[in-house]
Amino acid sequence: MPKTIAVTGGKGGTGKSTISTLLAIGLSKEYRVLLVDADADCPNLHIILKAKRKLLSEVKQTIPKWDFSKCIKCGKCSQVCKENAIVFVKGKYPIFVKEQCIGCNACRIICPTKAIGKAEQKIGAIYFSEINSLNLSNLHLISSEMLITYEETSPIVNALKKEVSKFKDKYDFVIIDTAAGTHCNVISALLGVDFALAVTEPTPLGAHDLSLILSLTKKLNIPAFVLLNKANMAKSKAEEIKSIATQFNTEIVSEIPYDKKIFEAYSSANLEKMPESLYKPLIDFIKKK
Ligand code: SF4
Ligand code: SF4
Repeated sequence: MPKTIAVTGGKGGTGKSTISTLLAIGLSKEYRVLLVDADADCPNLHIILKAKRKLLSEVKQTIPKWDFSKCIKCGKCSQVCKENAIVFVKGKYPIFVKEQCIGCNACRIICPTKAIGKAEQKIGAIYFSEINSLNLSNLHLISSEMLITYEETSPIVNALKKEVSKFKDKYDFVIIDTAAGTHCNVISALLGVDFALAVTEPTPLGAHDLSLILSLTKKLNIPAFVLLNKANMAKSKAEEIKSIATQFNTEIVSEIPYDKKIFEAYSSANLEKMPESLYKPLIDFIKKK
């Protein structure tokens, strides 16, 4: 069984993707690693790793399909739709806005004349990549991507997790890079992991959003540790981050400094060239855990 770690964080822009990628690159020098891009709204790890993506599967969703010959224009389907995916004007047939639909089935159940059947729509895709371009043969990437115009990423993250479960046993480590925030898509990505690494930075927003993500992992009963990125940026805020970690009975397990070399490596998409000394304490912590 591989060790499964989620790299997460309430706030966007703290360096989650960079940390996940560095962790995966570092561990893959000794172990077989599957890196999972669960930010279906905005996947970017394949860009950072210069990976060619191959389609693994399409993600489809069941949606309603109307038979207007049975419709009595009562409007109940529109009233029950919490996503505002059905527009109803008195005396007219309902109008379906498929991009808003999350496939909950409520409209089919409520319809008194069984005028609503089922159809399918593609909402996203899952991709697999070998990282040949960087000669990292022990590292594979699986990523999810939602089609533009759709809003709900949780079904795509759930489909991604199903694909991961099919072949995760070939690996020693599975590193899941979640989206930012604490919404359903993040919860889907976190479920079933051995522990989470909450990436934050010493800023007021970093402190606020760290509390949110640690509250979520506590509710989900997932052990969580803190990684303080850009650690030398503001000393007083770094102290506040430490005190938040203590409040949640956890600790800062690694600090990565604000260092020009990191930004140069990141902006030129050459993370594999970053000095390992900058993130070695993190790799050591993960190996021991
Ligand atoms: S399946 Fe659910 S979300 Fe989609 S249109 Fe029907 S009620 Fe709305
Ligand atoms: S609930 Fe059924 S009958 Fe009523 S408007 Fe919707 S589709 Fe037509």
